Amino acid sequence: MIRICLAGNPNCGKTTLFNSLTGSSAHVGNWPGVTVEKREGTYKKLEEKIDIIDLPGIYSMSPYTPEEVVSRNYILDENPDCVINIVDATNLERNLYLTTQLLEIDVPVVVALNMIDLLKKNKETIDLKSLEKMLGVKVVEISALKEEGLDNLMKIAYQESKNTRKGFTVLEKSEVGSLVLKAFNELKKTDIKSPLFHAVKLVENDEIEVHDHIEVHELIENIKNNLPKDDFEGDYEAIIANERYEYISRNFKHTFVRFDEGLTISDKIDKVLTHKIFAIPIFLLIMFILFHLTFSEDLLGLNAIFNLEISQEWLINLFTGMKYEKMIEEGIATLSGIPSPGVFLQNWMGFVTGSLIDIFSSFMPEGTVITSLIIDGILTGIDAIFSFIPQVLLLYLFVSILEDSGYMARVAFIMDRAFRRFGLSGKAFIPLLMGFGCSVPAMLATKTLEDERERDVTIRVTPFFSCGAKAPIWTLLAAVVMGKFLGDIFVFSIYVLGIVVAIVAAIIMKAFSKNYEVPPFIMELPQYHAPQFKNLMAHLWEKLKHFLYKASTIIMAAIVAIWLLSNFSFKFWEGMVDDIELSILAKIAKIVRYIFYPLGFGMGSDGWKYTAATFTGLIAKEDVVGTMAQLGLIEGTINLSNAAIYSFAAYNLFTLPCFAAVSTAKSESSKKGFIKTLIWWISLSYIVSLIIYWLFTLIETILWLGILVLSILIISVIVLGVFVSSKRRLKA
Ligand code: GDP
Ligand code: MG
Repeated sequence: MIRICLAGNPNCGKTTLFNSLTGSSAHVGNWPGVTVEKREGTYKKLEEKIDIIDLPGIYSMSPYTPEEVVSRNYILDENPDCVINIVDATNLERNLYLTTQLLEIDVPVVVALNMIDLLKKNKETIDLKSLEKMLGVKVVEISALKEEGLDNLMKIAYQESKNTRKGFTVLEKSEVGSLVLKAFNELKKTDIKSPLFHAVKLVENDEIEVHDHIEVHELIENIKNNLPKDDFEGDYEAIIANERYEYISRNFKHTFVRFDEGLTISDKIDKVLTHKIFAIPIFLLIMFILFHLTFSEDLLGLNAIFNLEISQEWLINLFTGMKYEKMIEEGIATLSGIPSPGVFLQNWMGFVTGSLIDIFSSFMPEGTVITSLIIDGILTGIDAIFSFIPQVLLLYLFVSILEDSGYMARVAFIMDRAFRRFGLSGKAFIPLLMGFGCSVPAMLATKTLEDERERDVTIRVTPFFSCGAKAPIWTLLAAVVMGKFLGDIFVFSIYVLGIVVAIVAAIIMKAFSKNYEVPPFIMELPQYHAPQFKNLMAHLWEKLKHFLYKASTIIMAAIVAIWLLSNFSFKFWEGMVDDIELSILAKIAKIVRYIFYPLGFGMGSDGWKYTAATFTGLIAKEDVVGTMAQLGLIEGTINLSNAAIYSFAAYNLFTLPCFAAVSTAKSESSKKGFIKTLIWWISLSYIVSLIIYWLFTLIETILWLGILVLSILIISVIVLGVFVSSKRRLKA
């Protein structure tokens, strides 16, 4: 079978093209040895079936990141029949940098000029003929999103795959041309494939090539030493990069035509969204709207502002998932406000799981071990966990939309300015942002950070970006603290708390590492796109699948284990205990809870239950609410003070993440860094909760003193921040 691979910069549209070409035949896995995604599928519209491989997005063929290694090795070693190099036509100069490197390999290349639809919208055009002349390969215009030009692209790629092509370098006539030629002639004597590519890399002092061809390397170094020094002081990687860009911009002038000299739509949007002053407030506002849509009980503020209540039976049933009768029983005959989509879906999910429990209860014999296992154990646990799926998915959907539209790349760019003060680059923002979904992929994404220290710091603060599995805890507590209506504010405050602590923590870590320079941040800002429905649904489905898998394995195991521990005493042969206070779980948690006395949630008759919940949270954070539900702690029965609730929330947010995340942290950190990370999580969560508990208690009892202490704390944080950033400026 013919094999054609797709290579290009991140965000140039590879995956979109891949999906359009392969339809449903695609299968996704990981490249052996690394966690970079591998997609393969078949294109069937030509006489011969064609295997399509979506390579990871890269900016260059150097061997620094796992993405680069995978793509480079695939093209060099796996002998694809043709490479389709996708370039983003709206960012052509930058994208062609990679193209000039691909051309040096002895493989047929077709350049797919993607996003033609946007180019037209911007009133721009590219002269294909002169671009083909400049590159020496076929160029085809496509729009992967609108599925235009794809058949033509595949027809040409198929024809090309029957040919062979010798590498071509744009460096030929440049200053380094003779060096490259020399290396090329030497390498040609060996039986190495694509000698030209290797020759250029050797001149660049690419570490892999130097290692593989040490003799040719020495030869070249000798020549270099006899050359006069130039602007780049003998940094040949920089010299060659510069030559490539020079070639591109020299020739590019003739290929690119803009009809309209004004700003593009994207530029206009960016004027506002990346504005010096407004950018961050806008970002916060957008995030708040997302939380409001997901967690608010009173979406339009009808109750909060106009004191409006809903009393029609059918409306209440519609909004609450058939809870009217139950509400009447509890003496609540009205609903306060229209719930947000998130709460609405949650209510209906509750209806489904609640009905399931009713059905089982109706025919299972009462009082047996099996009934208890199924109803009090499994179904109650499922009820607690599943009711949060809609909100978690919704939040995830919103974040995917922001990501797909190109806004998140802007946020990283905006954040870079601020992040440098904290000793991180804007690049670290993307893994952190992913932390809102799940810490595991977030920590894996720190692979793109080249600096070990930046990686350790980023991993250390990743769990503070509250993951989807923690969301159920906040929603549950929100209902208790804010008496329902301001629930979204409570949830928002927890997320903000996480971010603030992450920032302060990063500043502290920075203060303790001397002479550290943040690596520079280079990132392409893609044009804004309308997000693609198919893509979004694929994201969501992945997420849901992952969640269902986790729920059916590790969470289910935890639920059963907790049920066992909470229904049997150490004398398990005596059968189930009548009173949960006698259970094994209670016995253990009743000892451990003393640790949490100072944090405000270890005391009282329920103290051990909160203690137990924080421990099961280590298995999976969804288990915190699951355990609480099994131990009888639900919205109506939680009776902690607000201070203790905040402290409990903070403890769960900052303490050790779930086991899956801990083991990912271990694999991604340096060895010494990992031990520090563990100590860090355990101690930081304790300290922050302690501060929160006592501060809030203080504010609740002696308002003015509390405010005073709070102000002093805030001022010292600001002073610390200014101090740290000014020290940096002095050095620069
Ligand atoms: P990858 O990182 O190279 O895999 O890029 P993706 O396939 O994920 O695409 C990045 C973004 O570009 C997505 O939001 C796509 O919807 C969008 N996109 C891809 N191709 C086109 C196109 O031809 N036209 C437009 N307008 N948008 C596109
Ligand atoms: Mg992709």
